[in-house]
Amino acid sequence: MRNYNIHPGALLLSALVLSLAIFSFAYRRQRPVAATGTRNCLIVSDIHFSPLLGSSEKDTALKRKLLAWSLDNWKVYFEGKPAEMQMDSNMLFKDANYAILESAVANMKRKLPNPAFIVIAGDFIWHNATPADSLLKKKTIQFIAKLFKENFPGTLIVPAMGNNDTYGNDYDLQDPKFLNDFADAWAPNLLRTSGDSLKKNGYYSCEQGNLKFLVMNSALLYANGNHPDTAAFMLKWVKASLAGANGKNVWIVMHIPPGVNGYNGQDFWRKEYARDFVNTVAKYSSTVRFVICSHIHFDDFKVIYSRGKKPAPVSFIRLVPSVCSNHGNYPSFEVARLSSTGDSIINETSWYLNLSKVRRGIPPRLVPWADSINLKNNFKLKEISATGFSELINTIKTDKTGQAIKSYANFYDVGSPIGVLTINKDTYLKYLKADSLKASQ
Ligand SMILES: [Zn+2]
Repeated sequence: MRNYNIHPGALLLSALVLSLAIFSFAYRRQRPVAATGTRNCLIVSDIHFSPLLGSSEKDTALKRKLLAWSLDNWKVYFEGKPAEMQMDSNMLFKDANYAILESAVANMKRKLPNPAFIVIAGDFIWHNATPADSLLKKKTIQFIAKLFKENFPGTLIVPAMGNNDTYGNDYDLQDPKFLNDFADAWAPNLLRTSGDSLKKNGYYSCEQGNLKFLVMNSALLYANGNHPDTAAFMLKWVKASLAGANGKNVWIVMHIPPGVNGYNGQDFWRKEYARDFVNTVAKYSSTVRFVICSHIHFDDFKVIYSRGKKPAPVSFIRLVPSVCSNHGNYPSFEVARLSSTGDSIINETSWYLNLSKVRRGIPPRLVPWADSINLKNNFKLKEISATGFSELINTIKTDKTGQAIKSYANFYDVGSPIGVLTINKDTYLKYLKADSLKASQ
């Protein structure tokens, strides 16, 4: 047997070595943050998960079963349903099935196991859902929320509601029941105070360190909507929150962006609300560090310019692409690298799944989303800022080689070969025009 008698001096030395090791480990763990001052978050949007793929929208027997089954039984059902497990080009122009949803979340976790937070910019519900589907919509949001919460326990999740996220018809304003169910589905990752405000108002704020999120409800602002009192109240709340930000860096999150849709030239919001919002962001441009929208299912940006004869770029909006491939795009999500305080975006990478290259026979969660568009590299941007995007607009406009237009289309389409329907040499000026928003005050 060995002699385990230890000299007290050796013990002291061991303690010293151990504490030095712990100190050095802690230091090493903290040092990268201190040295680079950056962290990473996930930005996700337009999941449009359909539990009904492979069956008729009118399949009331299936709907009844889905309502009766537990969320764990939903998983079992999807895993046995070929239409819910398909991952190939046949999924283009369709809502997300279970395979794409599960694969998306697994790849988010693989790319970023510990995100600083997760922003989800709305549209969880499948297209063509009706008010009669309210209970199924409720359960669908619970199913998606459960998947995120299980994969990212304790991570702050900041969800916004999209135009499909309502117990009414598409674009209808959410009723109190929906607001309650939506807030409850995301708790506790959605903070309680935020959930309370969401239930009461349909919009909310939350904070993490020096970063403050203002999450707006764009259903109030939509071009064909008509909610003047509540819309005005929310826009006032945005102004008051910015005026009282007290040195915090504010990120504004919502689903439908302001301005014009480059695809069809139509206004997304009522003009007066867009004017008000653009003026507010221009006024508080040193406080608003990032505006996240989605809705178009593609990747885009908008620059906000100051008023006057020589408008200067003062702020910018990012439109992030969708998890579902409903518009003929590849499924995508984004990893954004931000400064530790959230006052600047260092880079953004849209990871996507090339549906034409998925190898058969691999479980969805193990299918790698290996392709990506790196925002800075794609455009050789010096910085992700209003100035950077404004210079980019000029570069694309004056490009004679066609290369910049191609980069713009590749970025917008997130790698999918759909440019013939979106940005190409005949349409790019229309899109670029829609990318500029000018303040009037
Ligand atoms: Zn959508």
